[in-house]
Amino acid sequence: MIEHRLSLSQIVEGSPVASFVIDCNHQVTHWNQACEVFTGKKAFEMIGTSNQWQAFYSEPRPVLADLMLEDALEQKVKAFYPGKVAVSSNNQGVFEAEDFFAHMGENGRWIYFTATPIRDDCGKVVGAMETLQDVTRRHAVEAALQASEAFLAQIVDGSSVATFVIDRDHTVTHWNRACEALTGLAASDVIGTHEQWRAFYPSERPVMADLIMNGAMADDVEQFYHGKFRPSRLIEGVFEAEDFFAHFGTEGKWVFFTAAPLRDLDGKVVGAIETLQDMNERRLAEEALKASEARYRDLSITDGMTGLFNSRHFYESIEKEIERARRYGRPLTLLLMDIDNFKKVNDQYGHLEGDKVLQSLAMVIRGCLREMDSAYRYGGEEFIVVLPETRSDDAINVAERLRQRFEDQIQRPAPGLVLHCTVSIGVSQFVTGDDAKSLVKRADDGTYQAKHQGKNCVVLLDTLKG
Ligand code: GH3
Ligand code: MG
Ligand code: MG
Repeated sequence: MIEHRLSLSQIVEGSPVASFVIDCNHQVTHWNQACEVFTGKKAFEMIGTSNQWQAFYSEPRPVLADLMLEDALEQKVKAFYPGKVAVSSNNQGVFEAEDFFAHMGENGRWIYFTATPIRDDCGKVVGAMETLQDVTRRHAVEAALQASEAFLAQIVDGSSVATFVIDRDHTVTHWNRACEALTGLAASDVIGTHEQWRAFYPSERPVMADLIMNGAMADDVEQFYHGKFRPSRLIEGVFEAEDFFAHFGTEGKWVFFTAAPLRDLDGKVVGAIETLQDMNERRLAEEALKASEARYRDLSITDGMTGLFNSRHFYESIEKEIERARRYGRPLTLLLMDIDNFKKVNDQYGHLEGDKVLQSLAMVIRGCLREMDSAYRYGGEEFIVVLPETRSDDAINVAERLRQRFEDQIQRPAPGLVLHCTVSIGVSQFVTGDDAKSLVKRADDGTYQAKHQGKNCVVLLDTLKG
């Protein structure tokens, strides 16, 4: 069998990678065509000389191949290429480095270069081979990428809206200062982890950005944000929600949050961005406003002295009740009561004592009301009770009970004095054709008749007077 071995010359000359070889005297023996193109130095200028440094440096110094011939190889390499050279992991004895050569090309070049000792059959180093590859473009792209990432990081970090970003592995890549302030979680504790949930929940679960990353459909988001989220009306694919986070601050916070997918140029989701806004102050203001509106409404329909509804509210309510009675044919009755001989109480004990009697009647009325009944101070010492779903016989029972309880009530208008006051009550029941005026008029007539019958009694007028 004829052994066919390629000569070193054949290998070097045929290689498309810029390569040169030196012998043990540091003289160039090979300088291939690719190397000519790469360095601008011709083979005939270089071969037989030790001028290899001229291709790379402005002053004489060893190149990486020269160091392969030295005894204290590693030490020398470290001295001439500090921090730039590594022993190739897959090729024993090969040194590789990457460095910037300011004197090459117009603006300098980044070069990836390797050097290998060449040994004779006895293992003795008899030369060295060096290869060169231009990696300037890759460096430029990496630098541009770094700059754009730094730029993006500044935008995110400088934003006053609390923002964080996760990558396709759900690892947190950005957590801005506003986010630190809102969540109380430091960027350094969360960036590089999957612990974004820690800011929001007591145990591990996906946050909205995680769901977006999973290509969340409304169903998935629904599962974790029960009806609180909605797709953004502004941006497609963005979800937004408002929720209360019991963990935030000392008393929890209302937070408005949005999550949007981040896509690469092909449209593939490669991450997600989530923003958070503190809605606490707005929520608290809204609640305070609602409470004050409710308070104002209560005040506007309440009689200050007795706490019953006022006459204005009576007219609003009775219209609704009459409408209901009319439409559904439901029964409706009215009690109108007037305190007997009230002038006397005022005259003998004073207006303030009279007021106390009014208040005690209001208390008795309140005690006789059922769930759907309502009571109103209709005039000075006249009160109305509206009894929906109630027929006149039941209404008379209510009126009787009320009359009796008020009569039983002990009034103390002066020290050591015990007094009992009474009321006269007129009752009317809704009939077809009634309006508020006619219904009240009949009850009033009932009261008038009760006065005539000697007061402290109940009179029903259940026919519609023409
Ligand atoms: P009658 O049995 O016929 O009803 O006799 P009366 O004395 O109660 O007569 P009337 O109902 O006409 O008198 C109403 C009195 O109620 C007149 C008024 O001074 C008194 N009054 C009205 N509003 C108030 C009030 O807010 N406080 C007090 N203390 N008295 C009032
Ligand atoms: Mg009166
Ligand atoms: Mg009276």
